[in-house]
Amino acid sequence: MSKAKAYSAASATAPLAATTIQRRETTERDVQIEILFCGICHSDLHTVRNEWSSFMPTTYPCIPGHEIVGRVTRVGSAVTGFKPGDLVGVGCLVDSDHTCSQCRDGLEQFCHNATFTYNSPDKHLGGVTYGGYSESIVVDESFVLRIPANLDLAGAAPLLCAGITTYSPMRHWGVTAGKKVGVVGLGGLGHMGVKFARAFGAHVVVFTTSPSKKDDALRLGAHEVVISTNVDEMEQHAGTFDFILDTIAAEHDLNAYINLLARDGNITLVGAPEQPLPVAVFGLLFGRRSLSGSLIGGIAETQEMLDFCGQHGITADVEVIPIQRINDAYARMLKSDVKYRFSIDMASLKAE
Ligand SMILES: [Zn+2]
Ligand SMILES: [Zn+2]
Repeated sequence: MSKAKAYSAASATAPLAATTIQRRETTERDVQIEILFCGICHSDLHTVRNEWSSFMPTTYPCIPGHEIVGRVTRVGSAVTGFKPGDLVGVGCLVDSDHTCSQCRDGLEQFCHNATFTYNSPDKHLGGVTYGGYSESIVVDESFVLRIPANLDLAGAAPLLCAGITTYSPMRHWGVTAGKKVGVVGLGGLGHMGVKFARAFGAHVVVFTTSPSKKDDALRLGAHEVVISTNVDEMEQHAGTFDFILDTIAAEHDLNAYINLLARDGNITLVGAPEQPLPVAVFGLLFGRRSLSGSLIGGIAETQEMLDFCGQHGITADVEVIPIQRINDAYARMLKSDVKYRFSIDMASLKAE
């Protein structure tokens, strides 16, 4: 085993602080990675605070981080796809059983034996897996992704979760040129949704409650911005959308958006509100509309997304911070005070 500097939370109420963890020796199938940047996802904050205790209780110490970009430092003898020096990424998954129907279909995120990047049982060392708020990580090569050389690394890190979370449902529901696409909410997920929908050639409409976000939405690629609290503005778009990506993780009125869908239109939720949302089923019956969810994406599709980002020059808009400002960053995320993702410069960990 080797030691690695990291930042961990000791309990649901403790601030994150510097620590030292063990990483396993590289097995023959493993890739050892020096972490250069790690994005901060809302899941990190929820997990650190044990807010998903009912279905995914947090084991402490907790070391979050699943938007990882780094450089390969060592590979096992059987590794064929990577060599020292390669730029690579690791997202929300670090292993699965490789054999079930989900894995065979390239949908490892739904594997019942998937190992998540943090707070998941660690098959190698026991305890739970430790994520990207760390100077290094060791990952099975089949869960390591290639980062296109032309992408800014700080901005590429959030592609590993926020990017694939928004790319995958748009691909699944056939967002292409000529389609009318709505993006609800302009945060870490929403701003990626706008960039992808625009790059796919769709007509992009952003829904927000904040008039102050209008200019930024247009800059990010939206063709139109609708203030969702304005009933008249909403009514003008009734029955016209092929697809709506809903990124809101708080309580909100789904029916207002279902009514904007065209025949066979779909609204996909990628945010996870704590309480159930009421759905007026008549809104789905008329026009054969559908309501779906989506969870990140499989490994092959994540690589496809990264390659697409390389071709189109797409990265997240990030605010780069040193790890020492992590607790302040969490406090600001709770106020939605970030445009649009924090990315931790892991070089800052050397000072600990
Ligand atoms: Zn995430
Ligand atoms: Zn599986």
